[in-house]
Amino acid sequence: MEKGLIIVYTGNGKGKTTAALGLVLRAIGYKQKVCMIQFIKGSWHYGEMYSANILKPEFELVAAGKGFVGIIDDSTPLIEHKKIAQHAIEICKKKIQSNKYNTVILDEINYAINMKLIKLDDLIKIINSKPYEQNLVLTGNYVKNKIIDLADIVTEMKEIKHPFKFGIKAKKGIDF
Ligand code: ATP
Ligand code: MG
Repeated sequence: MEKGLIIVYTGNGKGKTTAALGLVLRAIGYKQKVCMIQFIKGSWHYGEMYSANILKPEFELVAAGKGFVGIIDDSTPLIEHKKIAQHAIEICKKKIQSNKYNTVILDEINYAINMKLIKLDDLIKIINSKPYEQNLVLTGNYVKNKIIDLADIVTEMKEIKHPFKFGIKAKKGIDF
């Protein structure tokens, strides 16, 4: 049996979710099964939500969040975000424990923990009880040190330049 890896993509630069989606493309080439559960995201649309229709059944995507927490047009109360995040965590446990997937991606989970929508201990329990061979990918900036300690790969995306700073809006197919 080969040990699955805990992989973290963090940092303030662009590319964390994109890197996780890169792993999806690589894995499904071997007909491996990948499930991505998106925290925070839910009410916005991303290309990968449509790709999931094309890449099924190998790739499964669950948009379990609800827009961006506390940002510009977020009208959802924090308590509601917490409920949604708790529900998302329950989905994660089921998906991970089903042992149906070679790789499970918890997209934006680090933000959800940093914003205290989810308890760090809950994520640690999930990590420690995952099937031995399963890979687990965690994305989002502000990863906690305890998660770094448990991880096998931690990559920090560092912003050198981003067009957002120059007033260029998010681009279809690049940002969403
Ligand atoms: P992506 O989904 O493009 O790989 P990401 O996962 O690294 O980005 P998130 O923190 O999840 O980044 O942010 C989500 C959105 O914010 C995406 O539309 C992304 O393009 C954009 N974004 C990411 N990094 C930056 C940055 N440094 N400045 C401005 N916008 C950013
Ligand atoms: Mg992301």
